[in-house]
Amino acid sequence: MQENAYDVVVIGGGAAGLSAALVLGRSRRRVLVVDAGEPRNAPAAHMQGYLSRDGMPPTEFLAAGRGELARYGVRVARDRVTAVTPDGTGEFTLTLADGAPVHARRVVLATGLVDELPDLPGLTERWGQDVLHCPYCHGWEVRDEAFGVLASEPFNSHQALLVTQWSKDVTLFLHTVRDLPDAEWERLAAAGVSVVEGAVAGLEVADDRLTGVRLADGRVFPRSVLFVAAKPVPRPGLLATLGADTRDTPYGPYPAIDETGRTSVPGVWAVGNAASPMEQVVNAASMGYRAGVTINAELVMADIDTAVERRRAGAFSGEAEAAVSRAVLGERAHGLAV
Ligand SMILES: Cc1cc2nc3c(=O)[nH]c(=O)nc-3n(C[C@H](O)[C@H](O)[C@H](O)COP(=O)(O)OP(=O)(O)OC[C@H]3O[C@@H](n4cnc5c(N)ncnc54)[C@H](O)[C@@H]3O)c2cc1C
Repeated sequence: MQENAYDVVVIGGGAAGLSAALVLGRSRRRVLVVDAGEPRNAPAAHMQGYLSRDGMPPTEFLAAGRGELARYGVRVARDRVTAVTPDGTGEFTLTLADGAPVHARRVVLATGLVDELPDLPGLTERWGQDVLHCPYCHGWEVRDEAFGVLASEPFNSHQALLVTQWSKDVTLFLHTVRDLPDAEWERLAAAGVSVVEGAVAGLEVADDRLTGVRLADGRVFPRSVLFVAAKPVPRPGLLATLGADTRDTPYGPYPAIDETGRTSVPGVWAVGNAASPMEQVVNAASMGYRAGVTINAELVMADIDTAVERRRAGAFSGEAEAAVSRAVLGERAHGLAV
């Protein structure tokens, strides 16, 4: 095999990509992970809810994963894949931003997604610290604190209802939402959620902590946590140029995949948040693992099919040779007889 040729190239070295690479490395596959190094949960100090790794910093988790891959000879390159091009034989050439092109028999796309935050000054700076989106990721750590919930769509009131499981002190800022259905007002009242009408202008921060939410009319509401509805936007680029089928979601088109992550492009899998916006780290890892197992089995069978063809070709040419030999021997015998 050429130096830059791999059985599988995994694009993205988050939980999904590393997990696919681990099972493929353990299957004695030649594997390259190309990772741009911007995992989605990088702004968070801790990763919660992954059994046996609950509370581990995301950077530590991924470094441990890369260490495990090294045992099996999997290469991890810090680079960005800019194009995946079919080579005409059912395999692929991948163009890298900095490195030389690489060749792959199969490709795993594990490129995650982009969280698009509501357009409000200060949100990005506090994202993953005290501006949050996921109570399952952070709720326990901020339980019983003064929660704000920023509505940017009417259905965001659902988030205010949900987070009452972690604190009874919840204020919903209607911000750009003009009104809610009557039934929603009733549910908010029953859940004890305060509702503030009026546009939010920004955040109050002191000593690197959120202290309040400031409205355009100047009122400030003391809050130490703000939940927002981040939009999990897909990164369709690489798959779109391959012409992969997509499925519509409220957040945009995500790849259409089967239960193993296989896309409609033969030889290309999509896993983790690249394939589905709802996956947490443990689910992303699970998707990667399943894709890895499937790809290895497919490669085993593809190689065996090739071997069968070669064997048949060999057997046929052997038979042909034998027939020629028999004929020659027959002629010779005939000649001798004559
Ligand atoms: C603030 C925050 C906190 C979170 N906390 C938790 C938590 O506590 N627990 C939990 O379970 N989940 C948490 N999540 C969700 C978690 O981040 C995702 O479930 C997880 O990161 C998905 O893993 P992934 O491998 O699919 O994608 P990612 O982890 O995002 O990894 C994708 C990787 O692909 C790379 N990449 C992208 N494009 C390219 C390219 N073209 N070439 C090469 N590399 C590329 C990226 O740089 C990145 O390194 C949190 C999310 C956020 C936003």
